[in-house]
Amino acid sequence: VSTWSAVPAGPPDPILGVSEAFKADKDSKKINLGVGAYRDDKGKPYVLSSVKKAEELLASSHPDKEYLPITGLPEFTKNAAKLAYGAESAPFASNSIAVTQSISGTGALRIGGAFLAKFYPHAKVIYLPVPTWGNHHSVFRDSGLEVRTYRYFDKKTVGLDFAGLKEDLQNAPEKSIVLFHACAHNPTGVDPTQEQWSELSDLVKEKQLFPFFDMAYQGFASGSTSRDAFAVRHFVSEGHQIALAQSFAKNMGLYGERVGAFSLVTESPEEKARVESQLKIVIRPMYSNPPLHGARIANAILSDGALYKEWEDEVKGMAERIISMREKLYDSLTDTLKTPGEWGHIKSQIGMFSFTGLQPEQCKALAEKAHIYMTADGRISMAGLNGGNIEYFAESVDKVVR
Ligand code: PMP
Repeated sequence: VSTWSAVPAGPPDPILGVSEAFKADKDSKKINLGVGAYRDDKGKPYVLSSVKKAEELLASSHPDKEYLPITGLPEFTKNAAKLAYGAESAPFASNSIAVTQSISGTGALRIGGAFLAKFYPHAKVIYLPVPTWGNHHSVFRDSGLEVRTYRYFDKKTVGLDFAGLKEDLQNAPEKSIVLFHACAHNPTGVDPTQEQWSELSDLVKEKQLFPFFDMAYQGFASGSTSRDAFAVRHFVSEGHQIALAQSFAKNMGLYGERVGAFSLVTESPEEKARVESQLKIVIRPMYSNPPLHGARIANAILSDGALYKEWEDEVKGMAERIISMREKLYDSLTDTLKTPGEWGHIKSQIGMFSFTGLQPEQCKALAEKAHIYMTADGRISMAGLNGGNIEYFAESVDKVVR
């Protein structure tokens, strides 16, 4: 009898499983709105021109393939922190941000979870919004933290449940860890306003909560990397010691290169050095050291004035194409098709995703009858829509809600 005969088959991943179903469908009209990866107006994966140029520069310099240090490429981590916190931020300017390269955003969250499980001096409890990116639950549970939740989304208004959010954080034990999506909340596309962030910063201070920001979409929400960093920068300017997970998957289109960073605000360069020494001890038995190529690409862009400018324009272009798809979809449903229901949220939501309000059976019908694939919670990746398929999508939605 096989050693593994008692291993039960696990369920498919709720998001990556959608891509598998899409791949198996042979219909030419099929649309994949499941996974959050940007597509151009022809529905094709998009390699940024700034990234192509950075790769050409790299190739012509014939770099070696030696191991990186455990915490990654030092110029890259410094530039990543600068992008998130801003050059004028006090902890950045005083060299007090402990930072390490990570296996994209997921790896950053996992390093953060493991570090907090080992060194956070209070109850090791993390509060996640409802709903949240499904992998957050698994990452923090497997890191050894106790996972609890706070209210975030109001199904009735299809907007932020700000009162519920505040009440739940008010009732959390003091010094709990709380996870915030820095911008472009996944899956809802609903973010607090700047005034609400300020209120949250006060509440976090009053309750001495520890804020952990997941910033997987810097630049993708508004088209501006600094506007999207508002929450992070505001909390830091208010004196919070934050944890931060960054990903360059979306904003540089470096998905498979796995480029990210994890950082912690510390009190001094001396404390930063102690914290980084322990980050190394957390990371070493996980994967020894991070991959080289993507970090070199990201760093080439972040450190070169002309490439940086070109990249900023490309991020803006991606964000704007998504915003224009929101407007087109809203217009098709409300003006052209007179589809029953309220669709204003499609325009007001932010970032890669829209939480459509479609029910699980309607999502199932869209897959079976129209070859349109999305997660069962009704979340669609706006980036999967384009001039060639948006009318077919709107008509198909119209049919399933009638
Ligand atoms: N956090 C959130 C909220 C996300 O949506 C994602 C990507 N789907 C990630 C983190 C991490 O993605 P990656 O590991 O590809 O950077």
